Amino acid sequence: MDKFLLDKIEAKFDSLTGVYERFAIENFARILIKEQHPFALMLIDGDNFKNVNDGYGHSVGDIVIQIIAQRIKDGVGKKGFVGRFGGDEFILLIPDIVEYDEIWQVCREIHAQFGNFSVPDYPAIFITITTGLSRFSIDGSSYEELFEKADKALYRGKQKGRSCFIIYLDSKHKDIKIHSSDGPSSNSMQQHNTIFNLLARSNDLRQSIPYLLQFFTTTLMIDHVCIQGRKSMIFSEVYSLSRTKEFEYIDNALVSLNVNNSTAIFYINDVNKLAASNQNTLLNICNKQNIFSILFVEISYGDTVYGYLRADTTATNRIWQNSDMDLLLTAAKAIGMALHFQGKTLEELK
Ligand code: GH3
Ligand code: MG
Repeated sequence: MDKFLLDKIEAKFDSLTGVYERFAIENFARILIKEQHPFALMLIDGDNFKNVNDGYGHSVGDIVIQIIAQRIKDGVGKKGFVGRFGGDEFILLIPDIVEYDEIWQVCREIHAQFGNFSVPDYPAIFITITTGLSRFSIDGSSYEELFEKADKALYRGKQKGRSCFIIYLDSKHKDIKIHSSDGPSSNSMQQHNTIFNLLARSNDLRQSIPYLLQFFTTTLMIDHVCIQGRKSMIFSEVYSLSRTKEFEYIDNALVSLNVNNSTAIFYINDVNKLAASNQNTLLNICNKQNIFSILFVEISYGDTVYGYLRADTTATNRIWQNSDMDLLLTAAKAIGMALHFQGKTLEELK
């Protein structure tokens, strides 16, 4: 690291991880702003880290935080300064790299460090990270402004399914309002209400199901949501920002053997994991459609299985959240009930 820059940052370090303390990075950013020195401000947060604390205890959680810090340091190398913001959140400052493609490359290198995450003695723990970043002076002229924008980008990344990085762009992210918590909230209640209202709005499922699918692509930012009948896709909705536009039916037989009996759900965050369970046919179909993460919820009533509600993400994988499954499950159950009481099959809606 440039000696000239090193002299400007206070040598204060976080006791758990050995990276800089939050305030050392913050003050450093303020100095660079004063000197009109360009930099990128990066916020990196562990995904679903609470599960580690809840499942293995706080001291294993501490070890995981140390490993996350080390991976981030390895990924950044000499290009930047790593600090701990608190908990599982890190704050980084990357001087002189503000050009979009260049900073994108830095993010990629950091995220690549998490491709084979492992914790000694705890093989089941796998952690991914989400990153949001802003750039001085493109996105703001004060530390507060830059932090707020990096935070909005991080929030968008968490909303999009985690394990991704988002570079703040005014045109895309300026209207984001950050509200905390993924758990039950008035937001979630509203969303459940929307699902029921959409399905109840008309007696004609032919009209209401497409609205519902559109609601999922936009609010949950899922690239593709569809309803599969017994032999074909009956309804299909592609998110406007999805990189892939062409999706095909996936044989229900390949799905049903994976569906969990009690939840009626099958999901996979990273389809490449299918290779380990000898499901190469399903993996190849996903690869062909650029699908990285997939989720199926059974549409059924009593003993009748009508088909599946399916959600795909492309380009990057998605860590499916309980809140995503909650909403999709509600929708699938409601559709199953509606079909039953209207005495219809999905095929008849085509
Ligand atoms: P998300 O993907 O939305 O970030 O989910 P998350 O579970 O990672 O949630 P969040 O980042 O909000 O939670 C971080 C948790 O880290 C909350 C707190 O209990 C825990 N934590 C904070 N400081 C420490 C620490 O020093 N050690 C350990 N083991 N846990 C910590
Ligand atoms: Mg976290």
